[in-house]
Amino acid sequence: MAIEQLLILIKPDGIKKSLTGNILTKLSEARMLIIGAKTVKVSKELAEQHYYQLKDKPFFGELADYIQGKVYGEPWDRVLAFVYQGEDAIARMRKIAGATNPEEADPVSIRGAYGRITTKGVYENVVHCSSDPSEAEREIKLWFKPEEIVKSIYPTKKIVLEKETKEVWV
Ligand code: UDP
Ligand code: MG
Repeated sequence: MAIEQLLILIKPDGIKKSLTGNILTKLSEARMLIIGAKTVKVSKELAEQHYYQLKDKPFFGELADYIQGKVYGEPWDRVLAFVYQGEDAIARMRKIAGATNPEEADPVSIRGAYGRITTKGVYENVVHCSSDPSEAEREIKLWFKPEEIVKSIYPTKKIVLEKETKEVWV
């Protein structure tokens, strides 16, 4: 079995329902390492890139709104993003997360316990979990910069930026 990394998001419904602690407790049963963690206000661009494989689905617009937390607005329009690492991490974390459809998910899984289907038909399933190693790599590189992960997991290179404006503490 291989050591894998994956992206896990606590989606805006998980934030609004104050489920962060419950979700992290359930995930911790797998005894994996968190090697990156942050809170993110999701832009339309990030939402659409994250779910690009579903762009032809009729619910794509609503899905992009959902991950941006648009239905909830301030202060719930954010996600918590984590990179987990562990043995056979993707399959094991997806099992703890449960099936995509919260009504079909094992009731003891995160999605089975806390998810719902909205009246518009969107599966609000409180967590995102990468589905395979190549998707995990794409998603981790989309959501995190190399310096935001405490371990070097993918090759990096140094580039020199000129005339870059950056916000720093006063
Ligand atoms: N989704 C939905 N309706 C569907 C399929 C998916 O609302 O019929 C949403 C749901 O929030 C899901 C996300 O789109 O988590 C991404 O779908 P995917 O098929 O990748 O499922 P996942 O990998 O999240 O289990
Ligand atoms: Mg998926």
